[in-house]
Amino acid sequence: MTQLDTRSVHAGRDDLTALGVHVPPIDLSTTYPLPTVDTGGASYDALAQGKGPDGGSLVYQRLWNPTVARFETALAELEHTDGAVAFGSGMAALTACLLATVAAGRPHVIAVRPIYGGSDHLLSTGLLGTTVSWARPTEIAEAIRPDTGLVILETPANPTVELVDIAAAVRQAGDVPVLVDSTFATPVLQQPARHGASLVLHSATKYLGGHGDVMGGVVAANQDWVSRLRQIRAVTGGLLHPLAAYELHRGLQTLPVRVRAQQATAAKVADWLCAQPAVEQVYYPGLNDPLELIGRQQSGPGAVVAFTVEGGFAAAAQVAAALRLITHAVSLGGVDTLIQHPAALTHRLVDPSAKPSDALLRLSLGLEDPEDLTADLLQAFTQVRRQDA
Ligand SMILES: *Cc1c(COP(=O)(O)O)cnc(C)c1O
Repeated sequence: MTQLDTRSVHAGRDDLTALGVHVPPIDLSTTYPLPTVDTGGASYDALAQGKGPDGGSLVYQRLWNPTVARFETALAELEHTDGAVAFGSGMAALTACLLATVAAGRPHVIAVRPIYGGSDHLLSTGLLGTTVSWARPTEIAEAIRPDTGLVILETPANPTVELVDIAAAVRQAGDVPVLVDSTFATPVLQQPARHGASLVLHSATKYLGGHGDVMGGVVAANQDWVSRLRQIRAVTGGLLHPLAAYELHRGLQTLPVRVRAQQATAAKVADWLCAQPAVEQVYYPGLNDPLELIGRQQSGPGAVVAFTVEGGFAAAAQVAAALRLITHAVSLGGVDTLIQHPAALTHRLVDPSAKPSDALLRLSLGLEDPEDLTADLLQAFTQVRRQDA
């Protein structure tokens, strides 16, 4: 197979020349003509059971959509899995994985903190019928019970960008499938399935879309999981809209270029932050990689940096508010740099015992010139110092 950069541009488009078009057609049909009642019924059964259309009618958009399927095919190719299933958001994607686990009669989940606050909340509340044991990466094996159906981890982890050894977690999990939320890494930096992960989840809202204008989620997996997840999607309806799928599929074409450029900026800004008296600690895998996973699991440190500031919550809040070029907003992975306060926002609902520091800010680096970004941070730090004086 050709290299990742090449496939990012061409995956899910291999039939376009034969179709006589240059960009993928968008199919917005909610329903499809049925040749006969019998063949229509057979197509319905096949799709509702999570199979592909195989030449039959597509029946109804909740069962199959060709534009969404193109994005799924492309993402699966980049992740080195049999297939992928796309959803209306990252949380809808996680919901489908948890429902599949409950449906299989093994509702106990082991999860490694930290993870995205929304995922933490969904697991903590047990809203979908799961129960959770929180474990350190080295404690997964001892946390397994007869009813354990899933191990969930995030690497790099939101918000402090720690790396978790996927292969080691998979070894500990034994027969239990491991879900890796790879949102921060993207398939450009790591492909968790190659390290034994059964499910690779992305909030496509972040890097895959990359421009802050489309929400989506996707799970890449083997054929068995793909069928189970499609079945759940067909029943529960957590669909990705075809226009969103088109945007996400297009986003994949520039993903390698964006991620590498944003990563280069993150490395510069992380180094710069280390030298600032206003900054207490900088969290970035490029600065601290105790398990030496960069190069082995993840090809580079990524483009998210977190840091704590001197002066706790008040100072962190002041910095966020004083920035001019950098936007104070949740989310990440877009072409413009965003900053947010995890304890107050993305991780607001996390149990106090596991909450990030009040002095922590999370920075998602975009495509701006790094010197303009550090100049903006410097003026914000200076303003905060002045307010304190
Ligand atoms: C944002 C995010 C999610 C949730 O995705 P949505 O698209 O917002 O539903 C899940 N995991 C991680 C790591 C995230 O950053």
